[in-house]
Amino acid sequence: MRFHVSQELRQPVGTQVHYDVQEPSLFLDDDVTLVDLNGTVELLRTDMGLLATVTVACATRQQCSRCLAEIQHPLRLSFQEEYLPTLDVLTGAPMSLPDGTDNFRIDAVYVLNLDEALRQYKLMSEPLNPLCRPDCRGLCPRCGLNLNERSCKCPPQPDSRWEALAKLNSALDAGERS
Ligand SMILES: [Zn+2]
Ligand SMILES: [Zn+2]
Repeated sequence: MRFHVSQELRQPVGTQVHYDVQEPSLFLDDDVTLVDLNGTVELLRTDMGLLATVTVACATRQQCSRCLAEIQHPLRLSFQEEYLPTLDVLTGAPMSLPDGTDNFRIDAVYVLNLDEALRQYKLMSEPLNPLCRPDCRGLCPRCGLNLNERSCKCPPQPDSRWEALAKLNSALDAGERS
C-alpha cells in the first residue's frame, strides 16, 4: 500500500492527513496476501519524517494446522511507525540518519510503502496453529484421509508411551524367567 508523500513532507510539523483505505486483495512479500482490507491511515508530519498510524481490518489465508484445509482468518492490525525520508524534499540532498536508527524509509521518489510493516504486524498477530474449527479431527497419520470427511479403517495409533512400557515389562518378565 503506497502513498506518494512529497506534498505531506513539505507541510509544517504537526500537519496530519487522513486516508480511508480499501484493498480487495493486497499481495505482500513471501506469499502473504491480505484480503478484504479496509480501515484508515493517518500521516502526521514530524520533525524527522511522517508518523503513520494504521488501523485496518482484513483477513489472511492460512492452512488449518491439523487438516491443511485453507481457511480465512480475520485480523485487526493497528500500529504506528515513523517513516523517514531518504532525500530531503526541499533540496534533494541525501538525508543521513543518526546511528542506530532502524525506522522504515520513504524511498527516493517520496513513496511511503506500508507493505513491509503490514507484513511484519500480520505475522505477529496471526495464530501459530490455526484451526478450521475447534474440533477439527485432522488427517489420519497412516493413510492421510481427512477425518472430518470420513473415518478410515486404520487401526488406532498405538500410544508410544505405552509401547515403551510394554517393552520394559516383557524385558522384566524375560529377566525373571532366566
Ligand atoms: Zn482442520
Ligand atoms: Zn487412516
